[in-house]
Amino acid sequence: MTAYKRLKTREVKIGNLLLGNNHPVRVQTMTTTDTMDTLATVEQTIRCIEAGAELVRITAPSKKEAENLLNIKNELHRRGYFVPLVADIHFTPNAAEIAATIVEKVRVNPGNYVDKKKFEQIDYTDAEYAEEIERIRERFTPLVKICRQYGTAMRIGTNHGSLSDRIMSRYGDTAMGMVESAMEFLRIARNEDYHNIILSMKSSNPLVMVQAYRLLISHMTAEFGECYPLHLGVTEAGDGEDGRIKSAIGIGTLMEDGIGDTIRVSLTEDPELEIPVCRDIVKRYTEQRISRTITTAIPPIEKLPYSPFEYKRRQTFAVKNIGNKQVPVVIADLSKIEKITPAHLQSVGYTYDLVTDKWTIGDMAADYIFTGHQLLDFALPGTVKVIVYPATWQVADDKNTYFPIFEDSGYTAADVVSDQLNFVMMDCFSDNTSVNNFTWLDELANDPHVVLCLSSVNILAMHAVRRMMVELMSRNISNPVVFITDSNWSTADEHLIHYATETGALLLEGLGDGICLGMSSNAYNDISSLTVSGRNYIANASVEQFINNTSFSILQATRTRISKTEYISCPSCGRTLFDLQETTAKIRSVTNHLKGVKIAIMGCIVNGPGEMADADFGYVGSGIGKITLYRGKEVVKRNIESSIAVDELISLLKESDAWVDAI
Ligand code: SF4
Repeated sequence: MTAYKRLKTREVKIGNLLLGNNHPVRVQTMTTTDTMDTLATVEQTIRCIEAGAELVRITAPSKKEAENLLNIKNELHRRGYFVPLVADIHFTPNAAEIAATIVEKVRVNPGNYVDKKKFEQIDYTDAEYAEEIERIRERFTPLVKICRQYGTAMRIGTNHGSLSDRIMSRYGDTAMGMVESAMEFLRIARNEDYHNIILSMKSSNPLVMVQAYRLLISHMTAEFGECYPLHLGVTEAGDGEDGRIKSAIGIGTLMEDGIGDTIRVSLTEDPELEIPVCRDIVKRYTEQRISRTITTAIPPIEKLPYSPFEYKRRQTFAVKNIGNKQVPVVIADLSKIEKITPAHLQSVGYTYDLVTDKWTIGDMAADYIFTGHQLLDFALPGTVKVIVYPATWQVADDKNTYFPIFEDSGYTAADVVSDQLNFVMMDCFSDNTSVNNFTWLDELANDPHVVLCLSSVNILAMHAVRRMMVELMSRNISNPVVFITDSNWSTADEHLIHYATETGALLLEGLGDGICLGMSSNAYNDISSLTVSGRNYIANASVEQFINNTSFSILQATRTRISKTEYISCPSCGRTLFDLQETTAKIRSVTNHLKGVKIAIMGCIVNGPGEMADADFGYVGSGIGKITLYRGKEVVKRNIESSIAVDELISLLKESDAWVDAI
């Protein structure tokens, strides 16, 4: 946890591609075309390969699609493309057995390979449970044998949302259930001496996903003394910045700890757009990490004071609205703006109306702004407070609005401090500091007016900050903590991924009571475009607005602070029954004011309902031009015409008291 080292896994061969055992992290995606449309699938596959995909997955819902994989493969070879293909299988062992003789890899979902989900709770005796495992062995072993014979690789891909009734009945909807679901299949494969296996533990909730992978590694190591390679991904992540942030939090948190042999970023966008995001995530661990320049050793951890397998927020006391059980605060850095005006506050959630002389406060309004040496010459909305350097704070008249930020030991040495709230910056192991050097920390420990602000320019900044959190916990220091995360990357995508990974990894551990994201001066001055993967998601945004949106999206994705509607939309595939991108955009445009409501938009009725996990409402394709609406897992309106489905969804939200009119 204090040095970067990749997890050693078995080597797996997928066609000519080697994966695991410290081979480069492979990037992959999945086509969205109809598998029976050979030409469209070939052409989309080629676009993915040219974008950099090293593996391309294609759905094979039934035998005929599985058979057509041969035509697709032959046409790709004829055109000079030899990237390994993966058949995606759900519910149809027959299709898997055909596909395994054609393509280089098959993906099976242990939640639905043998079992059909009926959402039933069944109490199994141990003998009945063992009988079920035997039934799975009988149905799964033929595929294992074919894979061994043909040299075909296999992914045992568990999804949080599609665990079988049997697993749900015994383990519940838990990370442990996901692990056991995969382990049952893995044990059967190992018994057949088949090891060309990759595993995945996907969820649309990055927290569940991270815990499941960690648990799986621990269980594989304990039971087999080795690990199989891991395919990382967050399912149904959605689109735009939110999709990228959710994915980067889940995948990035694990990759920071050297976990992961191949990744897929599932976006409700064209599959080739997933690849640049994958590459931006992976390059943080391969290229020189340009955002951080200092590499020094971080002191080892003797005893981890929390469990990496379960979420428990670190206990702190409150200093004003920071810490204890309060949601993490967002601090907006406005210090690079030469002269801050009311218009600048609009970018961080506060809109001033000159006529009424009133401020409107948005759901994503920053709690604090950092202005450096600037005092503001206009009246602020009552909810926002200002953080300034100590000399500026001393001359500020309003000590209920302005609060000082000190450099580490500067606080204990200062003549005057705030009697309400002081921020104290702590650099974490950027240079060769031993934990014994932080004597000043003991002087301010548990000072009821101090919030610590942790940052690091160590090349392993997340590790350095996490190490300091461990130090605080082991010294029983309960002051709230804000993470300051600067980025020195270049593009909006790179910044997004940096912020999501560095802060998301800490928030998922239950650490942190606030975040403050910033850019180095070079990055701030050089950023020429705020478009994300070539799309302008934030029209006319300033850097400050981009960062503020990102801050709230990170808190939302880690489920530590909910400030907007959450969309769980599948990436679509050959089973999709409507234009998912267009429909997602339409639903988003009419529901994006419903703070905290989770809406799933799923392409097909076969997998959609199972995979939408913990959504409050579901909009699921159930036939050509037909939509079925769900409240939780319950079908509420079946097979309605798609032309009226969005209006029907709104009616359903109203009937369920989940609707409010937009302001
Ligand atoms: S839910 Fe979406 S991605 Fe999953 S199988 Fe159905 S259409 Fe394909």
